Amino acid sequence: MNIDLDDRQRGIVDEAAEFARTVLAPRAQENDEKGVFPREVLKQMAERGYLGATVPQEYGGLGLDPVAYGLLVAAIESGDCAASRLLTVHVALVAEAILKCASTEQIREWIPRLARGETICAFALTEPDHGSDAAGIQTAYTVHGDEFRLNGRKRWITFSGIADLLLVIARNEETVSAFLIESATEGVRIIPQRGLMAGKACHISEVVLEDVVVSKKNMIGQPGQGFTYVVNAALDHGRYSIAWSGVGLAEAAVDAMVSYAKKRSQFGAKIGTFQLVREMIAEAVARVYAAKSLCLRAGETRRAGKPDSIIESTIAKHFAAGAAFRTACDAVQIHGGNGFSNEYPVERYMREAKVLEIIEGTAQIQQMVISMHGLRRFGRG
Ligand SMILES: Cc1cc2nc3c(=O)[nH]c(=O)nc-3n(C[C@H](O)[C@H](O)[C@H](O)COP(=O)(O)OP(=O)(O)OC[C@H]3O[C@@H](n4cnc5c(N)ncnc54)[C@H](O)[C@@H]3O)c2cc1C
Repeated sequence: MNIDLDDRQRGIVDEAAEFARTVLAPRAQENDEKGVFPREVLKQMAERGYLGATVPQEYGGLGLDPVAYGLLVAAIESGDCAASRLLTVHVALVAEAILKCASTEQIREWIPRLARGETICAFALTEPDHGSDAAGIQTAYTVHGDEFRLNGRKRWITFSGIADLLLVIARNEETVSAFLIESATEGVRIIPQRGLMAGKACHISEVVLEDVVVSKKNMIGQPGQGFTYVVNAALDHGRYSIAWSGVGLAEAAVDAMVSYAKKRSQFGAKIGTFQLVREMIAEAVARVYAAKSLCLRAGETRRAGKPDSIIESTIAKHFAAGAAFRTACDAVQIHGGNGFSNEYPVERYMREAKVLEIIEGTAQIQQMVISMHGLRRFGRG
């Protein structure tokens, strides 16, 4: 595939692939088992500038364009899903939302710290009773002169267990707004979520807010823009990021399945010579190519600033997440019994791939959005 990238960005992506192979991949299984994302790996990612991947260079970021960012995410995902999930929440959901929706003062205050990795972020939208129906969130804020007071409970907040800064969405009756809240603020409680199928190293936690006082200068955008502007901007970037995670995970799974099929023998022949195993390999390779093509197409539309980049990213996310899950399932199948063992990475890939069909909007929510686009776009004649 011919991908149009300048030498600087190409170099960053190539280095990230090497970092993923040599630093991230060897520790991913252990991190998953221990349920921690090591601070020293976080530090290395920050030193390499990945935590400011798309942040303009004037604010200390790498200034990657959408295509280069996507390739970076895919490279990191193929080494360690947790590292790539950090990029999605910290860079795509929070930094991008601040860059798009915050005031110049807020951008100057926060973005250089985020880009350097001094401040780690999490995005707090979902609640125990409001996931897909995010517009119905119940976390409430009240206005007290120049301050707000927040109360509520957020759930499934990736990396909130180690985050310094939370982008929290809350409502005042019909007015939904977005706030930057430091985790150390009085009244913020972080409760780790245990027993998860995947994302175990992502410090996923509940965030409980009890009479948390927030200064007016920490509201992002105007009152009432929390959902229509901030959440929509964040989730658009988040979906694009997760789409590329799907590519990276599917690539890792296809790599694992082919390596195994070449080595494992049954009935006196390598299993990669059997037609039914080859069918799984063929479908997996075609899916990876298709997912990457859709992500590149979405990336090009984002690069060109076209309005249809939102639906292109949604389609890419939907397809790539499904591609990653099906490919990871088939990678387990090709490994037979060994696919169930954590001696091989494919069982982890399968668990992590399932997450991609749920976060940043479930597969069903994407289908609703894509079908509405389809009903508008086709069948006019
Ligand atoms: C590992 C992980 C990490 C996460 N990280 C974050 C995070 O960092 N920040 C954050 O805010 N949230 C996060 N989430 C939450 C995630 O965004 C939600 O789980 C997701 O939006 C789905 O919401 P829900 O879990 O409440 O499921 P529900 O909305 O209850 O959905 C349950 C089922 O019903 C289906 N469904 C719902 N509505 C419809 C409909 N109208 N039509 C058809 N089917 C429908 C869904 O597709 C799904 O299959 C995370 C979740 C997970 C699992």
